[in-house]
Amino acid sequence: MINFDFAKKEMISNQLRKRGIADKRVLKAFQDVPRHLFVPEDNIEHSYDDSALPIGFNQTVSQPYITALMTQILRPLEDDIILEIGTGSGFQTALLSKLCKYVISLERIPELVSFSRDNLKKLSIGNVQIFVADGTLGWKSEAPYDGIIVSAGAKEIPQSLMNQLKPGGRLIIPLEHEGYHKLFRIKKEETGFIKEEILDCMFVPLIGRGYDE
Ligand code: SAM
Repeated sequence: MINFDFAKKEMISNQLRKRGIADKRVLKAFQDVPRHLFVPEDNIEHSYDDSALPIGFNQTVSQPYITALMTQILRPLEDDIILEIGTGSGFQTALLSKLCKYVISLERIPELVSFSRDNLKKLSIGNVQIFVADGTLGWKSEAPYDGIIVSAGAKEIPQSLMNQLKPGGRLIIPLEHEGYHKLFRIKKEETGFIKEEILDCMFVPLIGRGYDE
């Protein structure tokens, strides 16, 4: 029998705190959202490993550290409305739901929308809506957003996502670079966009029509 509580504590201490995840709200969200509720049964014993894990359809739930880092640099506030692109298992969605007012999450694979909705139900999370949609086009009806987080690697920044950010808003996005990805934070200021490179990483691809818009 696996002691998931112990494994979660170890994960938070060794993979997150020791690597510089210091935001108390983010660490608390990781405490409150058990990752094993978002991992398919055949890999459940690896739920707190330092790695991405398969969730079917050639997709993954991202490595805990990368998920934490992306959440920390997004800096979600209690009253924020956040758009997430690439729901996957719903793990990151659940973390965001603990940190902001409302989350809209978009996923292109219908089976993963069902999977993530079922996973979120286990925690009775109510401030989230998940849609089957091409996230490269964003989600106009609730725009503009305080933050947008993309958890798949993009060829370039989709214009719709830039348009749908509030002034002061943050966009977190991995961008293709010589066969891997670089994670960026882009801030929308009154005077324009400020682009900050964060680190090298590897994601599944962001597939969609929004690059040509
Ligand atoms: N954050 C997720 C989690 O916690 O499980 C992991 C996301 S996984 C690395 C990336 C997801 O992006 C995949 O589920 C994939 O189907 C989805 N995706 C790729 N292109 C997309 C698009 N244009 N719109 C919406 N989802 C997309």
